Amino acid sequence: MNFKNTREFARELDAQDKLFKYRNEFIFPKVNGKQVIYFVGNSLGLQPKSAQKYVNEVMTDWAELAVEGHFYAEKSWWDYHERFSEKLGKIVGANASEVTVMNTLTVNLHLLMVSFYRPSGKRYKIICEEKAFPSDQYMISSQVRYHGYDPSDAIVEIKKRDGENNFRTEDVIEKIREVGDECALVLIGGVNYYTGQVFDMEKITKAGHEAGAFVGWDLAHAAGNIELKLSEWNVDFAAWCSYKYMNSGPGNASGCFINKKYHNKKDIPRFEGWWGHNKERRFLMEQEFQPEPTANAWQISNAPILSLAPYLASLEMFDEVGMPALIEKRDKIVAYLEFILHEIDKEVESTFEIITPADQSERGTQLSVFLHGEGREIFKYLMDNGVITDWREPNVIRLAPAPFYCSYENMYEFGQILKTGILNKKK
Ligand SMILES: *Cc1c(COP(=O)(O)O)cnc(C)c1O
Repeated sequence: MNFKNTREFARELDAQDKLFKYRNEFIFPKVNGKQVIYFVGNSLGLQPKSAQKYVNEVMTDWAELAVEGHFYAEKSWWDYHERFSEKLGKIVGANASEVTVMNTLTVNLHLLMVSFYRPSGKRYKIICEEKAFPSDQYMISSQVRYHGYDPSDAIVEIKKRDGENNFRTEDVIEKIREVGDECALVLIGGVNYYTGQVFDMEKITKAGHEAGAFVGWDLAHAAGNIELKLSEWNVDFAAWCSYKYMNSGPGNASGCFINKKYHNKKDIPRFEGWWGHNKERRFLMEQEFQPEPTANAWQISNAPILSLAPYLASLEMFDEVGMPALIEKRDKIVAYLEFILHEIDKEVESTFEIITPADQSERGTQLSVFLHGEGREIFKYLMDNGVITDWREPNVIRLAPAPFYCSYENMYEFGQILKTGILNKKK
């Protein structure tokens, strides 16, 4: 498509956009009385207008029914979390039985390590990507130390080649083959949080299995962003947070995928609690644990209903729209943003380097842009002018135009504000 860097053209794209009306279903912060241009849905998604209603519903049930709400609320609490499995399954490409929602992301990764990081003999190493998200690094390192190994030996990092911004699939696979029968687990962020690169999860999962390792994915930046087929790819486990692309609210619950081949297995180690017990018998308070025959067996505590409520509100919208429509708009709006960046770059004679892969199959919603020659002041200028981006040292801004609520006109306006900011500085 031949894009144009004009307001009229951007408005034309908005007029053709089937998802445009959803902008109105979200609440935008305001700067100088004007709705912001929000590029940080990869960090904290905007609040759906329906979220408050879902929370109020729980507050009312609590007031009117108190403990009886567990069974008699319209959305009963004892099985509230089960309302998520099917909807989340569609988002991550899994059977409903393989998906559950509980705790928070890093907590879930720790819990899943109980089942999937079982070092023994010479097989004790974990392969991950270099400069993984810090929480993942701390999690993996503490797990390795907990099992009595030295992180500098037991953690094997996949590296980028010198001068390259992204990982190469062949290097990941090569590393897995090299570690071979010493590899206990491959655990990588499915979409890199810094560059937005999408890993070839199918190929890497296959290579991990060929080496005899478990393969898990941290999908913090992938869930609700890219197409996932966790069942088909035969992934062992995965977890994600819901407050980024899935708009569930700050610090909200994480989702987990546990491949069905591990359900109903007596020999799989797992930390257990009453919410993972056979649900028909949960309140009989029996001594022996009978796991649910699904991913719900990994549940531990009774669910935080008040926090799940806005998550459910958001999932209803995902269900209505569907990932294919979101992905279709995503590709187009990201391509338009990329075009705008190149146009502005020419006009201001600056040098923007987009470090996210140019190939659409290797990226999702996020473009990470190295602003050579620009400092933090441009980030601040954008903020002061109603463009919310995210700044990473040394001088990268991450731009994620979430297809649910960003418009093409936003992209055009962003370009104009960026241009003015840079030119002002040069004066
Ligand atoms: C956002 C993010 C996290 C956050 O972890 P929490 O436990 O939800 O605080 C972890 N890992 C990755 C890769 C992330 O992008």
